[in-house]
Amino acid sequence: MNITELARQLKITPKELKERLPELGFSIGERAIQIPDEQAIKVIEAFKRVRQQEKKQMELKEKVERITEIKSPLKQEERVVYLPPKIQVFELANRLNLPLRTVLSCLLKNGITASLNENLPFEIAAIIAEELGFKVKEAEEERKKEKIYFKKEIKEIIKNEPKDKLIPRPPVVVIMGHVDHGKTALLSAIYEIDFMQKESGGITQHIGAYQIKRKEKLITFIDTPGHVAFENMRLAGGHVADMAILVIAADDGIQPQTQEAIRIIQEEELPFIVAINKMDLPTADAKKVKNQLIELNLIPEEFGGNVICVEISAKKKKGIPELLDLILLVAETEEEKLLANPEGMVIGTIIESHQDAGFGPVATAIIFNGTLKTFDNIILSKTYGQAKILKDWQGKKVDSAGPSTPIQIFNFKALPKVGEILTVENNRDLLKEKIKEIENQQEEEENIFQSIENNKRKNISFILRADTFGTLEAVVSAIVGLAKNNIKIQILKKEVGQVTESDIILAGATHSWIISFNVKIPSNILSLARERAVKISFYKIIYDLIEDIKKEIERQLSGEVIEKEIGELEIKACFSSSRTERIVGGKVISGYIRKGAIGRIFRGEEPLAEGEILELQVNKIEVGKVSAGDECGIKIKTNFEIKPGDILKIYSVVS
Ligand code: GDP
Repeated sequence: MNITELARQLKITPKELKERLPELGFSIGERAIQIPDEQAIKVIEAFKRVRQQEKKQMELKEKVERITEIKSPLKQEERVVYLPPKIQVFELANRLNLPLRTVLSCLLKNGITASLNENLPFEIAAIIAEELGFKVKEAEEERKKEKIYFKKEIKEIIKNEPKDKLIPRPPVVVIMGHVDHGKTALLSAIYEIDFMQKESGGITQHIGAYQIKRKEKLITFIDTPGHVAFENMRLAGGHVADMAILVIAADDGIQPQTQEAIRIIQEEELPFIVAINKMDLPTADAKKVKNQLIELNLIPEEFGGNVICVEISAKKKKGIPELLDLILLVAETEEEKLLANPEGMVIGTIIESHQDAGFGPVATAIIFNGTLKTFDNIILSKTYGQAKILKDWQGKKVDSAGPSTPIQIFNFKALPKVGEILTVENNRDLLKEKIKEIENQQEEEENIFQSIENNKRKNISFILRADTFGTLEAVVSAIVGLAKNNIKIQILKKEVGQVTESDIILAGATHSWIISFNVKIPSNILSLARERAVKISFYKIIYDLIEDIKKEIERQLSGEVIEKEIGELEIKACFSSSRTERIVGGKVISGYIRKGAIGRIFRGEEPLAEGEILELQVNKIEVGKVSAGDECGIKIKTNFEIKPGDILKIYSVVS
């Protein structure tokens, strides 16, 4: 048979046929154009066999692929899970679409013995999900729900207030926009335009918000820029505000953060005014900005849309009165939504909080309904406190704060979080119940963190940042190479770019060491790290980095104990002593004291002795933990003669 004919029958080219014949065991030579018929039949049969085999293999491969696909229903790049700030263990398994035991054993592997209903904080759930092969994202949906919840909650409260008690409250306005477009300059210009405040000369009190009076009407401005937790506050600002001013620099137009602000405004359904700023510049082009807005389907009024635009210069203080009048106009149209009962149930939200060296946790809130008074018992989701001191935004002590009023509150048990909802509970029994609930929740979270801490004893976990992917990989391989038999090195996160606030939060929750290689650490991030006791280092030379990690490994191998100061207590009285124990009374002045911790006795700068806290009592009842502001009795294992006035520093110890 002719080779060409045989190839045609086999549906391949003659060249291909000649190439494949040797592997099937036929030899006809390179130049042959004929093949004996008998051999041709054998070739056809051999091809049939091979093709059948190939078909079977193909089917098998497809089957395997189908099975693996069933096992992991999403392809690698699609294995993304959205996690809320808190999630119960069984719900986590649900979201990951994995059997509960897989999630539980991964938790165990990380040293966490959690029950099915236990709430895991985002940071922990994220580690577990990542370990199980998922890419984790913060659940925008959940965040949205929380925000909407706040506005819905206020709406509900207002709906239930007696109609005749409702009066209009000032609008709360947030200024948003791209960096350097003039938000801070605008906040100052607005502040200074108020004649009364001009007298007092500039903003002195940055507490996160201020108020001005225009045409006898008050307007509250959220004053967020320049703060450490700026990002958080900006979001919180959008979350609590009644209205937004979107600042766009006329010489720069719409930029990424402008778009982000637009997204928040739309998500929150906030009425807004576009302030086209820097109109004094020769390069200012308001028309271009308006065209960019049109492209985003935000049609300015002059083009028949409903987006209000005003041209201003924050620097030259031009257009500011017009902007304020527009705010009042928008507030009028929104009047229905801006009602409150000053005598009603108190609800507000935290817009700023910080740890004051003298006063401890201090927070600024804006009250949306009711009136907050001094000595009210405040309840937040994670902390509480009696408002012993209230100060207005100018730093003056006041007795109360009504709707839309920014107020600084002193005396919380722990630092409130920006965005937390504030309520008041002055009924003693209900207050006790709510405090108990908060404390239990805290205890639960602390236990989880504690088990992680214990587990991380011989683990060093890192969050790495570098300037380029190349350096990042070099750093990773240098670090991983340092692992020893009994020291596990874990890289929780590795990314290019600057250390972010969420890196700090993750490091805080997992006791990780943040390393920024060749990327400067912003000063606000450094102070946040300090605030949260997160270890953070900057390196330029890989040798230095390796040396430091080696030292840390040696320190851990030598069994050195890691101590963390958790609180301070002032000794008020000494009751009794035995050969090995002392019973004293005192007041926790910061943080907390817990049974089992170590108390170090200070009289001045130097520690004089130390001992384990054996027992704690409040009102003669034994307790596990006492927080700042409370007095307690303490049994401590020491033969040192403790005196009133001594300071007991409390340390939690992990070896
Ligand atoms: P932010 O980052 O949005 O708070 O922006 P800033 O308020 O800090 O302003 C950034 C820069 O723009 C500063 O140098 C301001 O002086 C300048 N700036 C702000 N508003 C104006 C304005 O109306 N005209 C001009 N020429 N410069 C302005």
